[in-house]
Amino acid sequence: MTDIINILPDSVANQIAAGEVVDRPASAIKELLENALDAGATSIQLIVKDAGRTLMQVVDNGCGMSESDARRCFERHATSKIHRADDLFAIRTMGFRGEALASIAAVAQVELKTRTTDAEWGTRVVIEGSDVKEQAPCSCATGTSIAVKNLFYNIPARRNFLKRDSIELSHIEEIFKRVALANCQTAFTFHHNGRLLYDLRADSFVRRIAALFGLNFKERLYPIEEQTEPVRLKGYVGKAEYAKRARGEQYLFVNGRYIRHLGLSAAIERAYAELIPDHTYPAYFVMLEVDPSRIDVNIHPTKTEVRFIDEQVIFAILRAATKKALGQFSLANELEFNPSTEIDFSPAPQGYTPSAPQVHYNPHYNPFSGSHSSRPSPSANDYRHFFDNTEATDEKDSTGTGIGNLLPDEPDPSPMPSGQASPICYLNRYIVTTLKSGIVVIDQQRAEERIFYERLMQRRASAHPDAQQLLFPTNCSFNSADSEMLTELLPELRQLGFVIEPLGHNTFVVTAAPTEMKDNELQPLLEQVVAEYKSNMMQRFNERDKSVCLSVAGQMAARSGKALKPEEMQHLIADLFSCQAPDISPSGKRIMFLLSEQELKEKLNKS
Ligand code: ADP
Ligand code: MG
Repeated sequence: MTDIINILPDSVANQIAAGEVVDRPASAIKELLENALDAGATSIQLIVKDAGRTLMQVVDNGCGMSESDARRCFERHATSKIHRADDLFAIRTMGFRGEALASIAAVAQVELKTRTTDAEWGTRVVIEGSDVKEQAPCSCATGTSIAVKNLFYNIPARRNFLKRDSIELSHIEEIFKRVALANCQTAFTFHHNGRLLYDLRADSFVRRIAALFGLNFKERLYPIEEQTEPVRLKGYVGKAEYAKRARGEQYLFVNGRYIRHLGLSAAIERAYAELIPDHTYPAYFVMLEVDPSRIDVNIHPTKTEVRFIDEQVIFAILRAATKKALGQFSLANELEFNPSTEIDFSPAPQGYTPSAPQVHYNPHYNPFSGSHSSRPSPSANDYRHFFDNTEATDEKDSTGTGIGNLLPDEPDPSPMPSGQASPICYLNRYIVTTLKSGIVVIDQQRAEERIFYERLMQRRASAHPDAQQLLFPTNCSFNSADSEMLTELLPELRQLGFVIEPLGHNTFVVTAAPTEMKDNELQPLLEQVVAEYKSNMMQRFNERDKSVCLSVAGQMAARSGKALKPEEMQHLIADLFSCQAPDISPSGKRIMFLLSEQELKEKLNKS
């Protein structure tokens, strides 16, 4: 039999390796930025055209490369960062596989200009699909500029696989944010299609956060810090009240590198367990410093996944540190907002000598211990006790009321106690009603949001969602990026009962909706759906049906806020209690609270 095994030529091997390292523009940019940082740059420019399709360029003021290194850096396994296998375990720099530039040069047209400080001339290398086209001395600034043009120009299948510019650009932005957060002492600029998107100077971590996420972000954070043997950590965790429905601003870094780690993320999130509703997520920006020999960063090709030897200990420390940050500060807030601590500004009587103030505190107070959480988040089942002697209905049965119609249905009377007094509506915003166990105050809009949401989710599940023809078809217009997003969401919206047809030129006509709507309500509703989808896109791509339901329900509830007649309130209460989760709005806010007879008595006897 003849021999059949070939050794692949380098160019082919590089293209195959490129699949691992460079799957989209954002991952090439990550490698280029990390190389610039490894080169000791204090200032880095990122220049992108057409979301990376046409150009990705990184210019740094780092150490630069010699003439021969400028050529060698494109070879496979070319790295200045490791010499022996042992080095892998002590590595602190970003890259260590010597694969990135070889991979990028295999699937793009690359122009490198680089000069070291001591060299008079720089070197220019042009390389296309692993072929060196030019190498010559050139005049250039100290440091390195790498321009990557026409990514995947020689692999049309991969080029076609790239997503729309808006999506690729959001991936690039995300990578840029991670790198910029991890290196706040480095200045960065980021231009896209000639527009300056970010201009970041060297700054403190919290100012860098604010520069990336908005100035008001600083007020939403508590500092966190802990110095221990297995791990030193510092950073910021979000205040509970700013927790969001989507895992948005969650950044964890180890030894200056962004990582994803389910266990450690859970450690932080668990510290919020009793402070935020289920399915909402806090922001955090936490830096961990760990002995590099106690972690393995090489388990994933793009190196965002990491294994820790001391994982359990680090988990516990991180969770405790987060609790501490939240606990300390929520206690401070309580003191701040407690009316009895308000300062009395009336003037002191004449001759009065103030005595030194004394502070009393309970050193054992821990807001997290015991059952007296400051913000209990009861589950749906907890509401069964509202109805004392009444058997709460089985959840499965109770969800079945009023499906398919968003106007309140005949209430399912079972959850409501008989002999119920009429509810009243306070400020057209809260519904106050009595139950056997006490007085309940319900936030009308949040209750409606919950009811709409559960009905929309059920409607989605039905094969032929019914839609209500609008009296007047309505045109809605968007900018081109949003109209692309909306087009992508049309199937989800159809399932909810919206009939929307594109008319071209970023205009759509809406002919039916889940419920009768005025023409001026549709445009803002769809804008909100697109905006929320966009902000959730990265994290919740697989849950876009939910994301759409959530924004539609939120919008419908917002527009329906109005004075209700007592019987409408009865309907609403019955509908709410037939929901699966009547206590928390789908956007994670509390819908109601109960004042029990006991609490009422206590309050009245306090005087
Ligand atoms: P790695 O970063 O894993 O070593 P790369 O393919 O990313 O592999 O880079 C190969 C080598 O090229 C690096 O080890 C470094 O010596 C050199 N290099 C790459 N980018 C730069 C840069 N911006 N400045 C200086 N040297 C660089
Ligand atoms: Mg590298």
